[in-house]
Amino acid sequence: MDLSVGLTGKVAVVTGGGGVLCAQMAKALASQGARIAVLDINEQAAQGIAAEIVTAGGDAVGLAANVVNRPSLLAAREAVLTAFGSIDILINGAGGNSPKATTSEERSFFELAQADMQFVFDLNFFGTVLPTQVFGEVMAAKGAGVVINVSSMAAFTPLTRTIAYSAAKAAVSNFTQWMAVHFAHHYSSKLRVNAIAPGFLLTEQNRFLLTDKLTGQLTPRGQKIIDATPAGRFGEADELIGAVLFLCSDASSFISGAVIPIDGAFSAYSGV
Ligand code: NAD
Repeated sequence: MDLSVGLTGKVAVVTGGGGVLCAQMAKALASQGARIAVLDINEQAAQGIAAEIVTAGGDAVGLAANVVNRPSLLAAREAVLTAFGSIDILINGAGGNSPKATTSEERSFFELAQADMQFVFDLNFFGTVLPTQVFGEVMAAKGAGVVINVSSMAAFTPLTRTIAYSAAKAAVSNFTQWMAVHFAHHYSSKLRVNAIAPGFLLTEQNRFLLTDKLTGQLTPRGQKIIDATPAGRFGEADELIGAVLFLCSDASSFISGAVIPIDGAFSAYSGV
């Protein structure tokens, strides 16, 4: 599949770039000629992905940064500007859930600790807002740039068990619209903010939750997801790439404030 959009010379900051999905996004952006700052709380992971990009002939730096800590983000911004001199694209990819903020057989809703829910809410919501403040300020000063947030199916209708994650991703989708309007009203219509909302992807992290290790058959949870996905299959992580490249490129120059499901029609299906 030829997905070339031409991002030569653009500088992209990818938070959570050491992780499964955002590492792929970082590599895809690099393949289009963008220079990449891979940011992650796990410095080793960030540097590892940056090294892979460089080995493949791209230009990248790997930096430690905590998306819920403004001083850490400001230090990363300095490092990015020193390395590349500019910022054109921000992918707000860092995020995730925690079992402690999820109801289960062992932990009822009534027992969930505020601090545990707060951790997940802050990581996903403020972990999107703070980098947009810190890196978006550079783009606002230039009057051009692209922000892509990572929402989730949990944002449209909450998923069972994941109370804080669902709430935070709904807030991420809401913030995507708010920020798109704010940038356009107060700075420039060339500052665009969109989100992708991945559906259910089979990655190494969830493979054995969704499929049986020995037989490869679907688990009951995996079967439920497939039944609710009109496409009848899980997505692959690299199926997010087309939308990311499109949203980063001038091909989407009139698209801002959109939350794009990449979900095999999961979010469109009522179940009937
Ligand atoms: P992942 O755990 O592989 O990657 C997340 C990365 O974020 C990790 O490298 C982690 O070290 C980093 N990180 C965590 N806390 C951080 C912090 N405070 N500061 C900086 N970096 C931090 O997860 P993934 O599956 O690649 O998910 C990436 C994004 O996609 C997340 O926002 C997630 O919520 C979202 N998402 C994932 C799926 C899925 O099916 N995997 C579906 C919908 C949305």
